[in-house]
Amino acid sequence: MTSSPAAEATLTINLEAIASNYRLLAAKCPKAQCAAVVKADSYGTGMAQVAPALERADCQTFFVATLKEGLQLRPLLQDQSDIYIFNGLPIGRAALLASNGLRPVLGDMAEVREWAGFCRQHNSPFPAALHFDTGMNRLGLVPAEFADPANDDLFTDFSPALVMSHLACGDTPDHPMNRAQLHHFRQLRQVFPGATACLANSAGIFLGEDYHFDMVRPGIALYGGCPVENTENPMAQVAFLQAQVLKVKTVPKGQPVGYGGNTLMARDSIVATLDVGYADGYHRQLGAGLGHQGASVAFQGQKCPLLGRVSMDLLTVDITDASPAPKRGDLVEIIGSTITIDALASQANTISYEILTSLGRRYARNYQPAKDTS
Ligand SMILES: *Cc1c(COP(=O)(O)O)cnc(C)c1O
Repeated sequence: MTSSPAAEATLTINLEAIASNYRLLAAKCPKAQCAAVVKADSYGTGMAQVAPALERADCQTFFVATLKEGLQLRPLLQDQSDIYIFNGLPIGRAALLASNGLRPVLGDMAEVREWAGFCRQHNSPFPAALHFDTGMNRLGLVPAEFADPANDDLFTDFSPALVMSHLACGDTPDHPMNRAQLHHFRQLRQVFPGATACLANSAGIFLGEDYHFDMVRPGIALYGGCPVENTENPMAQVAFLQAQVLKVKTVPKGQPVGYGGNTLMARDSIVATLDVGYADGYHRQLGAGLGHQGASVAFQGQKCPLLGRVSMDLLTVDITDASPAPKRGDLVEIIGSTITIDALASQANTISYEILTSLGRRYARNYQPAKDTS
């Protein structure tokens, strides 16, 4: 891709990388349908561009977190694509979901009752999913609830199109909870044998075929995050973030840089100031402080460490050793092939999910198109 010179920090999202990640995940699950999780604006990468690109890559089922996200997604997709709402049915909103072709993931008996009542009233079994709680203790039904004979009539008004559960420790392949949840889910799905069964998130796909059932629903792996802890990342990088150098200056030995005034230069230093800060989702924790190193940015593959604190709108980095060195107007890599989202996440004591979903709203955004495979 070539673009006109950027005038500001620029986030580039490679839609071809997302499409190829989708194809790689789908190929890992030959017997299951591969859905896509596009909640939180497709993990910060932009649902309006990403969801249609996934649909063109043959994805037919999409998951979002909230009703509002579902309403935003519906007009972006073909009518025949299915949309599920993880957070379920907000009180009194059954008609709004049904009329927009949205399917709640029912995770509480009160929701099941409300949905069943709505279906009865309209004499139509509007499709929905059931979420079984197999150990997360967050959302989801436990057997004592849905298997209670007193609730049997609820499932004559509709029957779930999909049954799902969620792995708590999928990214840690040896964790005993994985097999326990698998075993539990295998039993629970028997209660609704006609429903599509879905357990695996990105990490679950890599736990092997036992975990694939009829459908898998990756999120982070589509967006280039490493799906399994401490392994080489098989996914293509999706998000590339570049900041612009606003100013280069020499700061003499002993002088401070930035807020707090306590990062003193150990030598005469060349400092570049960049147009990205914590208001853009660059975590303040990545800054350098008294006795601790900060993260780095990269210029032509060379890492340049942060100096001082991260400001709201600015970063300062040490380019003394860079050769060639960036100059005013040059773009430096904040996230890219040298600084991956997973590496940046571990430096910020967080996970790639949070790095992506905190990407700021001020960046110029640039979408590289997916290849047309039709
Ligand atoms: C977000 C989410 C996913 C996707 O998980 P990844 O780890 O990003 O693949 C799947 N299922 C549920 C219930 C989720 O909330």
